[in-house]
Amino acid sequence: MVKKFDDVRMKKVAVLGATGTIGSFSLDVLKRMKEFKVVGVSAHKNLKKILDVKKRFPSVKTALTGFKNDDVNFSGENAIKELLESIKPDYVIVGVSGFSGLKHALTACKYSKRLCLANKECVVAGGTFFFSEVKKRSCEVIPVDSEHNGLFQLLEHVKKEDVKSVTLTASGGALKQVPIDEFPNVTPKMVLNHPVWRMGNRITVDSSTMFNKGLEVMEASFLFDFNEEKIDVLVHPQGKVHAMITLKDGTSMLHFSESDMRIPIAYALNYPRRVGLFNELIPNEKLEFHKPDFRRYPALKLAYQVLKAGDGYRVVYNAADEVAVQAFLNGRLKFTQIYETVYKVLQKNWPKKLNSYDEIEAVDIKARRITKEMIS
Ligand code: NDP
Ligand code: MG
Repeated sequence: MVKKFDDVRMKKVAVLGATGTIGSFSLDVLKRMKEFKVVGVSAHKNLKKILDVKKRFPSVKTALTGFKNDDVNFSGENAIKELLESIKPDYVIVGVSGFSGLKHALTACKYSKRLCLANKECVVAGGTFFFSEVKKRSCEVIPVDSEHNGLFQLLEHVKKEDVKSVTLTASGGALKQVPIDEFPNVTPKMVLNHPVWRMGNRITVDSSTMFNKGLEVMEASFLFDFNEEKIDVLVHPQGKVHAMITLKDGTSMLHFSESDMRIPIAYALNYPRRVGLFNELIPNEKLEFHKPDFRRYPALKLAYQVLKAGDGYRVVYNAADEVAVQAFLNGRLKFTQIYETVYKVLQKNWPKKLNSYDEIEAVDIKARRITKEMIS
């Protein structure tokens, strides 16, 4: 975790993945604060939506990574690099989805002073390599993922050696009331109906399998430098406590706020200041916590084994899941086959140490190819 204090001058901000859920929340937050100016936005394929963003923020430069197009300022594979080179933002919100986040976050840390990092795949796949690159550039990383944002805030107040364990909470996803033996028959429509959060499709499916929480355990390990034994998960259906830390003197500290991604986004932009954009949450409901059932969420148990297994296995856990989730959404895999497929791909031999972007990308590509072959 790299962080340092900053001054309070007007900041130029780029939003990568501006057409997605995190991107839209980010633009909403930025629109409310005059201390920030949105100077650049990117999308992958949604040309119409990025042009709509341009209408709301007329001075922004636009980038489209998915194909070439003359209606945006930069387009094609290198569009984000060209955008950031041109606008030189102070801060970049990394709200792109999937493995692409690693490449874009690495580019963003070359051209900016702070990454407000929502994309978790880049931490999971990039691991130590990603953080050594970020450190080289003296770029701050402030996590936006709600649980990690909560941990970041809690850990600021304690000495690391006093921390016995950290806990991420999980809502349990859309299927938490569905009996396990009905899992093979659940449809994408049932899974996409998340009880607490409004999110992109992949992360919503990943919430029901808890692949998302598995990725987050790995994310926490690299962001805060804790090994797997110190990271716990508790199911908390109300989704109001996002993280906890347990200290060696028997004290626990909880991070409690509304389930609204705009709160961690605003925190990451304003850190170390706090701004009064949102209302506090009044504790007026019962808060429940229970241990996750690994029979219901085998992907979570698998994540702990993967974290121990080494660099290549984390890349595979992410890549194979992304492909399997897509196949589930397209009706080519049953819900339970998402886990089974990822598990099988992980049984192959994968490198324990990855030292460069090219090495990480090669494993990602191979894992996707093997997963697709397995599904077809
Ligand atoms: P969405 O699917 O809603 O949005 C993804 C965004 O990334 C879109 O702007 C999309 O562009 C762009 N994008 C997709 N593929 C690429 C690519 N290959 N290269 C460049 N840009 C790309 O995702 P979310 O907003 O839900 O999630 C974004 C990230 O934040 C994920 O890593 C997720 O895990 C993380 N996150 C999300 C949370 C949430 O509440 N949604 C909470 C915590 C973390 P286009 O629209 O043109 O396809
Ligand atoms: Mg999260």
